[in-house]
Amino acid sequence: MPQSKRDRALILIKPDGVQRGLIGEIIGRFERVGLKLAALKLVFATREQAFEHYKKDDVWFEKVGKRAIEEKKLAGKPIEKTPIEYGQEKQKVLVDFITSGPVAAMIWQGNSVCDIVRKLVGGTEPLTSDVGTIRGDFTVDSYHLADADMRSVRNIIHSSETKEEAEREIKIWFKEEEILKYDLIVEKILYDLDLLK
Ligand code: ADP
Repeated sequence: MPQSKRDRALILIKPDGVQRGLIGEIIGRFERVGLKLAALKLVFATREQAFEHYKKDDVWFEKVGKRAIEEKKLAGKPIEKTPIEYGQEKQKVLVDFITSGPVAAMIWQGNSVCDIVRKLVGGTEPLTSDVGTIRGDFTVDSYHLADADMRSVRNIIHSSETKEEAEREIKIWFKEEEILKYDLIVEKILYDLDLLK
């Protein structure tokens, strides 16, 4: 799909980010890069909503399940399930985590917003995510620790991976009337042709 200044991304500040008092810091980072906030609310997610959000395919189950098996081997624990089964178990712990406390749900808008936001958010694992990113700057978790306790990696924030994924996720978290359409003055500076007039 072509890039557009109207692209949208779903962002969730997960329960660890809310409890760490990072809502303002994260919103500030998105504002200063020039993105537009189109919707914002604090919610307790239902389990159904969370399962819908973390609808993963066999490729993801296999990838995450294989990692869990490697960790079990390292810890000398028995391997009792297939990678897919361990991956599915991981999906359940993601749901446990995202429903464990309030989540700040937002829609941000701007040119290639999913790519811009993922750059600011950093890689999935805080241990290896870059310095300067949200996950790299504000937390310390690793796959190793999370797998050892069979829990979700606590990495502060979720951001949509692609434009298509964003449109699927937005429907899970927002009603159409909660999403605002308005002009932000900064968009003129970022995108308008007649900047110098
Ligand atoms: P991202 O959030 O970076 O897009 P994924 O969609 O692959 O990453 O995973 C969703 C969330 O599941 C991650 O943000 C993280 O909290 C958690 N997670 C991913 N992989 C693992 C894992 N191997 N063990 C525990 N939790 C994981």
